[in-house]
Amino acid sequence: MSSCLWIRNGRVIDPANRRDAVGDVFARDGILVDGLTDAEKATAVVVDATGKVVSPGFVDLHAHLREPGGTARETIASGSRAAAAGGFTTVVCMPDTNPPADNAGTVQLIKDIASREAVVRVLPTGTITLGHKGEKLAPIGTLKKAGVVAVTDTNSGVSNNEIMRRSLEYAAMFDLVVCDHCQDSSMTDGAQMHEGALSLRLGLRGWPRAAEDVVAASDCTLSQLTGARIHLQHLSSAGAVETVRLAKARGVRVTAEVSPQHLLLTDAACTSYDTNTKLNPPLREESDRLALIAGLMDGTLDAIASDHAPVTPTEKDCEFDYAPVGAISLETALAASLEALVHGAGAPLPLLVEKLTVGPARVLALDAGTLTPGKPADITVFDHAAAWTVDPSKFQSKSRNTPLAGRKLRGRVTHTFVGGRAVVSDGRVVV
Ligand SMILES: [Zn+2]
Repeated sequence: MSSCLWIRNGRVIDPANRRDAVGDVFARDGILVDGLTDAEKATAVVVDATGKVVSPGFVDLHAHLREPGGTARETIASGSRAAAAGGFTTVVCMPDTNPPADNAGTVQLIKDIASREAVVRVLPTGTITLGHKGEKLAPIGTLKKAGVVAVTDTNSGVSNNEIMRRSLEYAAMFDLVVCDHCQDSSMTDGAQMHEGALSLRLGLRGWPRAAEDVVAASDCTLSQLTGARIHLQHLSSAGAVETVRLAKARGVRVTAEVSPQHLLLTDAACTSYDTNTKLNPPLREESDRLALIAGLMDGTLDAIASDHAPVTPTEKDCEFDYAPVGAISLETALAASLEALVHGAGAPLPLLVEKLTVGPARVLALDAGTLTPGKPADITVFDHAAAWTVDPSKFQSKSRNTPLAGRKLRGRVTHTFVGGRAVVSDGRVVV
């Protein structure tokens, strides 16, 4: 007998199919279907979604799951549970592991661990250069064969434009998107936070917007030169958003993402010297935050990506200058984005859902992010108005480094289904 799922009476938002109406969603044997027979309905798992939103499972383009090599911070198992708790059913993980994913063996190891231990779909990326050192190209064709969905040097970036050009040409041959972290590290040596009036007042070394803007511009130029796709990771500055806007208008094949942290917070959060507010790129000013929101609204920015970056409490428990960068965000991404975009800026709910589902899926041409019948039943149910207070001690992640601890947010995931299987039910991880 087949196993069936019936999610009833929710507000079904499926931007890929322009659906936004109260209704039901059905699955049979892990696959979305148009409807069920009466006999199937009688034996189906039924979820009453009255008053809630039913959306495609969220897709995250940018998570650091830390395994292999950083398992005190996170593992694929714990990171995937954090993802599920946050409504994500597909997570693209970054290759800055130890050893780095610059070879087929490490990619295979990540896939093997994920197939055994992950409760959501985990898709590996490879590095652009060996050891993400920015010097020699990684074997991109071999990485593709091993199963990576993109290449990126993540927080290292690629500072040499010739190497970036060749990586774009090479990756395009294998139909892979190059994802770039836009940072000119010659301008950020020793930088602690956004360069502005506040960094001066706090006595912390500043990180100028220009360090991001110049790389966003060179990336667009090199994408135009090579005709290859490029994706800009976690933009933080108004200038970079404008650069992408203009590049898209002249037909450059560029896409871009923003993190929930940068949508909700500004450098004012650093006033407390809380090391959990130390991010890369740094939290910037209100004008940047508003530009990021405007960029999502007008389609300049394609996706919200978590940039989930777990760091242990011991590592963060030090002076701001010495603390490692990063914040965990898989479990707060929905609520932080809802606060910033929907509750804060009046954006329509379907826009937010698009940027968490089909938007990111399109960036890497992933077969995910829709409720189209025939596709895997990856589904997220959430209450967009439910208020809660962020308590990191309750997180599934192994780490606790969030700048949102103690903050009251609205928006909670109640159910996450991966291939029709309940991974989160009534707000609890059940696997
Ligand atoms: Zn990152």
